[in-house]
Amino acid sequence: MAEASMKEKLEKFGLKKAIGYLTKNPEKNLPKLLDMVDKFDKDNVYLGARHAFHAALDDPEGNWYKLIMRVLHDVDNKMIQSFFASFIMGATLEGGKRQEKIRKQYGCNVPWAILLDPTSGCNLHCTGCWAASYGHKLNLTYEEIDDIINQGTAMGTYMYIYTGGEPLVRKKDIIKICENHQDCIFLCFTNGTLIDDEFAEDLLRVGNFFPAISVEGDEASTDARRGDGVFQKVKNAMRILREHRLPFGVSCCYTSQNVDKVGTEAFYDWMIEQGAIFCWFFTYMPVDADAPLELMVNPDQREFMYHFVRSMREKKDLFTLDFFLDGEYVYGCIAGGRYYLHINANGDIDPCVFIHYSDSNIREKTLLEAYQSPLFMEYHKNQPFNENMLRPCPLLDNPYRLEKLVKDSGAHCSDPVKPQDVHDLCAKCEKQALAWKPVADKLWAESAVDGKHCLNDDDTILPQNRVNPAKVMSMEEAIAHDDAVAAAKKAAKAAEMKKEA
Ligand code: SF4
Repeated sequence: MAEASMKEKLEKFGLKKAIGYLTKNPEKNLPKLLDMVDKFDKDNVYLGARHAFHAALDDPEGNWYKLIMRVLHDVDNKMIQSFFASFIMGATLEGGKRQEKIRKQYGCNVPWAILLDPTSGCNLHCTGCWAASYGHKLNLTYEEIDDIINQGTAMGTYMYIYTGGEPLVRKKDIIKICENHQDCIFLCFTNGTLIDDEFAEDLLRVGNFFPAISVEGDEASTDARRGDGVFQKVKNAMRILREHRLPFGVSCCYTSQNVDKVGTEAFYDWMIEQGAIFCWFFTYMPVDADAPLELMVNPDQREFMYHFVRSMREKKDLFTLDFFLDGEYVYGCIAGGRYYLHINANGDIDPCVFIHYSDSNIREKTLLEAYQSPLFMEYHKNQPFNENMLRPCPLLDNPYRLEKLVKDSGAHCSDPVKPQDVHDLCAKCEKQALAWKPVADKLWAESAVDGKHCLNDDDTILPQNRVNPAKVMSMEEAIAHDDAVAAAKKAAKAAEMKKEA
């Protein structure tokens, strides 16, 4: 019923027809499509994102315009249609309304995305990866994955992200799931080594699966962490995807050992050259009991990545997210079902892919019951964990905050191999958290405009937990500020050119 309703709306707004024309003449037809999205988003829920698109289209020399056109010219039409229909209209606009309804009805978090590990098995053994220590025995069955998605879509969740283990060990099931859930969009963190021509053909056929291939920087760093020869296999996988006109991204974990390799313009240029359209950065977290602490970045390295990613966003045609330094765009921690959660290959429902503590298992509870479980309600009642969105994490940035959440809720460690006391885990991160605090506080103060930050008036945050309104600017104010900055830059550039002439 709900699915039919979304499809009806898509037909009503003529979206599919518009997308059909889009790739024939993107420069002319994209503004028309954006006008349709404007009409669909009557409540201005996505005002910021829509404004960003309009700004990109107004600047044909800019990196965002180049990225959009690169996608429209280089990516297969079916994939673009699927992205607009499933991601923007489904997962974000229509799904968002349904999530909001359930959130209000049950007073709990309801996620935008669900991460799940189809298997704990992996064909590699990377340093510091918890999956390597989990062994190869755990799997979610096809029926369990199917059931998770059926439950999720009923509550408005259309975005599913595979982690692991290496998800592509289960290629056949993954393709079948894509076929059976055409309204959903699937992203997959993968080492890329199992991508071949046959799989690429399958991806083109289903149209709703987007891989993010893990790279650690250059060949030496990638092979040092992932094994000899892996970098060349990754390049080959990217070539296959590029030649099939399939969109893909890069997933990059920065550690104390490779931050100088991934934090370079050359690495950005390499990703773009391979055909990547997005990159997700993560910082290394010492998740499992034996994870080496020396791979954690120090505050100088974290500050370096803060500035580096922001500077690259100004000039490179690659969409970049930093999972640990972009908290200001999502009001801090997104875990515990606020925007996402993680289900491991044992069925345990964790609040976050990096937080392996749980009080619910999909073999015993429905998703809705898990959203209302003590652990997820502790997240809901306590988010955000800091008013400084550069210190969002109850583990990495706020010493022993996770310990309180876990102990207050009676959750247990979901690591199936070597369970770890939550106090011990928090103790490992205390030194880095305390060292990061003054740096993060300085960066947060410097990035304010007249002492204010733009934090969406987000219904996922309880009213009593919202940041003091005196410190928050509205989206309209933020847009006006951005427009003024852009106009000043344009005027300065024009004046410079005039002077040179
Ligand atoms: S728990 Fe930490 S790592 Fe996970 S989403 Fe929240 S802030 Fe990010």
